[in-house]
Amino acid sequence: GSLLMADDLHKSYGPTPALDGAEFSIHPGEVVAVMGPSGSGKSTLLHCLAGIVRPDSGSVHYGGRELSTMSDSERSSLRRGEFGFVFQFGQLVPELTCGENVALPLRLNGVKRKEAEARSLSWMERLEVADVAHKRPGEVSGGQGQRVAVARSLVTGPRVLFADEPTGALDSLNGERVMELLTEAARETRTAVVLVTHEARVAAYSDREVVVRDGKARDMAGAR
Ligand code: ADP
Ligand code: ADP
Repeated sequence: GSLLMADDLHKSYGPTPALDGAEFSIHPGEVVAVMGPSGSGKSTLLHCLAGIVRPDSGSVHYGGRELSTMSDSERSSLRRGEFGFVFQFGQLVPELTCGENVALPLRLNGVKRKEAEARSLSWMERLEVADVAHKRPGEVSGGQGQRVAVARSLVTGPRVLFADEPTGALDSLNGERVMELLTEAARETRTAVVLVTHEARVAAYSDREVVVRDGKARDMAGAR
């Protein structure tokens, strides 16, 4: 069955709805691209699915539970444990090394230093950035920085990875390498990926596409 699903989501910030009856579902290990023009509601859909934004109406179920029936602390523990996040910019802590950045979510979850370092290093090897573990984010390339961010998002073993334009700041060669490594790692670990992108080249790494237009999400079933 579905790991995460949303039904009839409505959300308005002003007179024009950002979401106007959006639906969504994803299975474990599936990579779903959420596509559509700028301002169509893609990020709002992602934020509702992740419990960051509360929809005005409609439901989001994760693992059989309705997000709106959970307490704030239950939702925030989902975001620290079961969910992982990668954004376009500004997600690494500049004062820490790349290795410390990857280890940070483990350290915050109480994992001992030695084990956190070992697990971080193994994820950095997988994302081909182990060689920059001792550098600070400001000293690495954009592509390396995003691969460090992907390693950090997966190190805790999330069930769902939310990726909002994860390659939006990269050139196409670096973007494709990030997508290859991200989707390979997600498929191996059966992590579901909600991939927001407006680029067909990035969506090509998904199993399925959902198109958001005027706040309505349409499943392009069988498109691939
Ligand atoms: P997309 O990710 O497809 O670019 P968004 O979900 O970011 O679309 O935005 C959908 C609509 O909602 C846009 O009109 C946007 O301006 C508006 N919107 C999104 N977030 C906010 C917010 N925090 N405050 C006010 N308006 C917002
Ligand atoms: P868009 O994708 O529409 O350009 P952004 O991704 O810049 O919008 O930001 C939309 C919302 O996503 C912000 O209001 C913020 O709440 C959330 N967000 C963006 N980046 C981060 C981040 N690194 N950590 C947590 N939340 C973030």
